[in-house]
Amino acid sequence: MNEKEMLAMYEKAGALLNGHFILSSGRHSARYLQSALVLMDLENATALATELIRHVDASDYDMVVAPAIGGLVIGQEVARLLNKPFIFTERKEGEMQLRRGFTIPDDARFLVVEDVITTGGSVRECMLVIREHGGLPVKVLAVVDRAPGSDDRFDVPYATALSLDVETFAADSCPLCSAAELPAIKPGSRGAA
Ligand code: ZN
Repeated sequence: MNEKEMLAMYEKAGALLNGHFILSSGRHSARYLQSALVLMDLENATALATELIRHVDASDYDMVVAPAIGGLVIGQEVARLLNKPFIFTERKEGEMQLRRGFTIPDDARFLVVEDVITTGGSVRECMLVIREHGGLPVKVLAVVDRAPGSDDRFDVPYATALSLDVETFAADSCPLCSAAELPAIKPGSRGAA
């Protein structure tokens, strides 16, 4: 599947919207992307995970981890295809943690999977938790990179299936607000691009 086909998949799922949106960062954008709407069709999840694992060799990893909530569906599907155990980290009171009784064998090698990456903050926090528990993050995979070209986000190799360079604007200098044709809406939290 090429990038054009992936974008068509997002459009078909109603997951790639054009308008005037307030992103989770507070910035405004003319495009919004909600991977959860694509991944609710498990065939799409399999197709996207299949694209992602082209970038890895299963023998390099012991386990797959994702930061909740965004990475859960695609992370589990990647783990299924690679036949590896899947765990996730999650925020409690804002702080990324390992919960649910998950444990990490010493020096276990991790593939880290996320749906949409912008700054990569959740992935970095997830990797920190893994390291604190004795694991070794080896590589990051993300379905969508909405800020391609920012190659210094992670200290491990990184690959993505779909790059979507989304222009965003500070709320006080947003040309869409200035045009005032369409009020800004806040359609969701994580996964927005
Ligand atoms: Zn605006």
